[in-house]
Amino acid sequence: MSAKQLTDLSQLCIHTVTTKPWDIEKAAKKFSDKGVKGISVWRDALEGRNISQTGQLLRDNGLQIVSLCRGGFFPNKEIKKRKTAIDDNRKAIEEAAVLGAPLIVLVCGTDPSQSLQNSREQIREGIESIIPFAAGAGVRLAIEPLHPMYADTRSAINTLAQANDMAFSLNSKSVGVAVDVYHLWWDPSLEQEIKRCGENGHLFAFHICDWNVPTIDLLLDRGIMGEGCIPVKKIRSWVEATGFNGFYEVEIFSSKYWQQDQSRYLNKIIKAYNENT
Ligand code: ZN
Repeated sequence: MSAKQLTDLSQLCIHTVTTKPWDIEKAAKKFSDKGVKGISVWRDALEGRNISQTGQLLRDNGLQIVSLCRGGFFPNKEIKKRKTAIDDNRKAIEEAAVLGAPLIVLVCGTDPSQSLQNSREQIREGIESIIPFAAGAGVRLAIEPLHPMYADTRSAINTLAQANDMAFSLNSKSVGVAVDVYHLWWDPSLEQEIKRCGENGHLFAFHICDWNVPTIDLLLDRGIMGEGCIPVKKIRSWVEATGFNGFYEVEIFSSKYWQQDQSRYLNKIIKAYNENT
C-alpha cells in the first residue's frame, strides 16, 4: 500500500530544534505564515520565558502544540542521580501542562557503566514512578526508541519492539510510543511493530526526517525527507494503516542547515513534505 499525496499542511508539525537558529517567537510566526499547523517545543526554546504566555503565543499563531521534548534519561548507577532525573521529569510534566502540550517525548537514557538490562529496568522504574503525576496533569508520555548507535549514552530502548513491550507492560493510558523514522527505518520488524503499536493504542507520535548517505555526524547530520535512504512514504503508509491521524513531525538536527538561511530551509521542508512524505 502506498500513502496518498499530502496536499495540505494540516498535519504538518515542525520541532523548534529543526529551525534552531530561530527563537520560538520567530519560529511561531514563520511556521504560521507558511500554513504549518503544529509545533513541538524543545525545552531549551522555553528558557527565560513565561511558559504559559509562550503557549498562548503559539496558539495565537494558529499552532497546535503537539509535544514537549524531552523527558527521560532515567538510568544511572547512583540512586541519587536517578532521583534527580525523576524530579526533572516531574518538572517537565509541569512545564508541559503549563505550556498546553498534551505529550512529553521520552529519550529514555542509559548508563554505559552498567548493563543495558539494568538501564532498561531503571527506565521502567522511572516511567512507572512518574505515571501518576503525568496522569494527574493530563500529560501523556511517549517512549521514543533510539537507533542502536545511541545505546552507549542516550537510550537503552533501541527497537520499536522494546518500546512496545515496555508500554504494554506498564499498562497505562498515559504511556505510549513515539515512532521516529530516523531511529527505526532499518528494522526488518518495523511494519509488524507499527501495526502492533497501533493495535495496542500506543502510537502517540510520528517523527520524520531522512538518513543522509553517507552520514557524516551521528547526531547533527539528519536530512530533509527525500534526501537520504529512508522510505518515508512507505513507513507513513504503515502508520496510517493503524488509523493514526496525528501530526507528521519534522525533527531535523543539522549543523549544515542551521548555518543556512532558515526561511529557505523551511520552504525546502514544506516542499519535501508535499512531495516526499
Ligand atoms: Zn524523534
